[in-house]
Amino acid sequence: MTHIYDWFSFPQYFSVSCPKCSAEARASELPNLKNVNNELVRYKQEVVSGSFKCEVSCLKCGYQSDSTEIDWVDDAYWRFEVKGKILWAWSKEHALTIRDYLASTDRREEGFGVYRASLLHLPKHFKLSKHRAAAVKSIDNVIAQHI
Ligand SMILES: [Zn+2]
Repeated sequence: MTHIYDWFSFPQYFSVSCPKCSAEARASELPNLKNVNNELVRYKQEVVSGSFKCEVSCLKCGYQSDSTEIDWVDDAYWRFEVKGKILWAWSKEHALTIRDYLASTDRREEGFGVYRASLLHLPKHFKLSKHRAAAVKSIDNVIAQHI
C-alpha cells in the first residue's frame, strides 16, 4: 500500500529504480506539463503523485533515456515500509533528513533547509509517536543494505 504525500516540491534530481537493472538511477525534474497524465496534479512547483516522463540515467548499466515513464511513487528508489505504509524519499540525503527529523525530540522543520517543505507535509502516520521508531529503523535498515 502506498501513501501519497499531499504536497511536496519536486527537486531538480531524484532517485528512481532503473527500468533495466533496478539499481539507483538519477532522474531529472519534470520537463513540462505536456507529459503529465491527468492523475498527476502540478500546482506551481508542487506535485501530488502520478506518472510522467522524465530523463533517467543509470550509472550501473548505462541505461539512458530522456522520456522514461515514471510512476511516482512506485518507481521511487528510496522506499521504506513503516507499519503498513510506504515512506519514500527523493534521494538518500532526503531519506537521512527524514530519519534525523523523525529521530529528533522536538521535530522542528526549520533546521532542515531545502527539505523543510517536504517535512511539513510528511504524512501523520510516520510522525505518530508509536511509529517514529519503526520509521527510523526502516530507513536505517534500507540504507545499510545500500552501503
Ligand atoms: Zn540500470
